[in-house]
Amino acid sequence: MSDHIYETLGVETIVNAAGPVTRLSGALMDPEVTAAMAEAAGHCVDIAELQAAAGRYIAEVTGAEAGYVTSGASAGLLLGVAACVTGLDPGAMNRLPDTAGLPSEVIMPRSHRNFYDHAIRSVGVKLIEVGIPDRFSGAGVRDTEAWEIGDAITERTAAIAYVANARSRPPLEEVVKVAHDRDVPVIVDAAGQLPPASNLKRFIAQGADLVCFSGGKVVGGPQGSGIACGRRDLIAAMALQHLDLDVHYELWDPPAEWIDKKDVPGAPHHGIGRPCKVGKEAIVGLLTALRRFVAVSDEDRSRGWIADIKALEEGVAGIDGVGAIASDGGERGIPSLTLAFDRLDGIDAARRFMTGACRVFVGTSGAREGVVSVNPVCLRDGDVEKMLEKIRSVAGDA
Ligand SMILES: *Cc1c(COP(=O)(O)O)cnc(C)c1O
Repeated sequence: MSDHIYETLGVETIVNAAGPVTRLSGALMDPEVTAAMAEAAGHCVDIAELQAAAGRYIAEVTGAEAGYVTSGASAGLLLGVAACVTGLDPGAMNRLPDTAGLPSEVIMPRSHRNFYDHAIRSVGVKLIEVGIPDRFSGAGVRDTEAWEIGDAITERTAAIAYVANARSRPPLEEVVKVAHDRDVPVIVDAAGQLPPASNLKRFIAQGADLVCFSGGKVVGGPQGSGIACGRRDLIAAMALQHLDLDVHYELWDPPAEWIDKKDVPGAPHHGIGRPCKVGKEAIVGLLTALRRFVAVSDEDRSRGWIADIKALEEGVAGIDGVGAIASDGGERGIPSLTLAFDRLDGIDAARRFMTGACRVFVGTSGAREGVVSVNPVCLRDGDVEKMLEKIRSVAGDA
């Protein structure tokens, strides 16, 4: 596909070997997704009706009561926490981020803290960190335990926030149990946990009240899109403080699957989620991408990535001054290649990759330990050959 649009802007396209990270513009969208977005852009609809339709499909593929399209997993955390704080009370929605008189604390295992929790804190709640993750300091083997979370719950607790990944402790089911014993909802940040596709249902099946995924990572939806799913009342509370409600009460018809108008005394005004607006193109693009994502098996999805990593590994074997170790990606099914250069540290190698002719952006999480890595998810046809040439030049220039 032509890159003329970027050329006219004077912006160079890159080889993205770091995966669908936000900084490098997320994943690539399939032409079927962009075609659906173009069609969506040519008609107007009632956005709440479109969200309700999207929600029905998201509920079906996640096994949750209800679903919603957000502008990203991060926006889902903001809206989800807001929903847990306000419930369906429109007065409380109007007051946020002032949480006076409302449950105003969110509990999080200390080892789950990360900078996406800005989204949580921006609702006006205080984060309560629990536990000591001494397994990470070399000082011990333990992390936060579920009983410690239970111990921290008070009448001020709005929700428990949980960040899911293969190494998360304590297990989600244990957290859900202590939380539900005290009627506190659990919100799961599962932004990057697709694939495997089975994770669409997994956290809901484990009892999570609300789960947030990114739409712009491997799912292949618009970069600024996300999926939220969970309890109907929480999804309704998210929608009420996200949708534009600049409407006379008599003319307001909220979708029946979320809320019975009789249950709220009035509509809230624009809520705290209003800056996380989602357009019709994004909703349709996300839905189209999600349909494609569930239609393909994890194995088929991985096949091209495995072939790219294998071709790179074989190509690198013939290049002096660089060593490569491939990994199969485990249950995520996203293989990777780790590269170490004999005469370059990881930071210098990454710098050389990202500068000069044909800029390549590699993964740098191991750069301080001397290695860079390749994630094949955002590679385009022909990128493997470009990368081998670049690797030769990075190693040779050393
Ligand atoms: C990517 C990511 C996010 C943010 O997701 P967006 O869809 O970009 O908002 C949040 N949490 C984790 C753990 C992530 O990996």
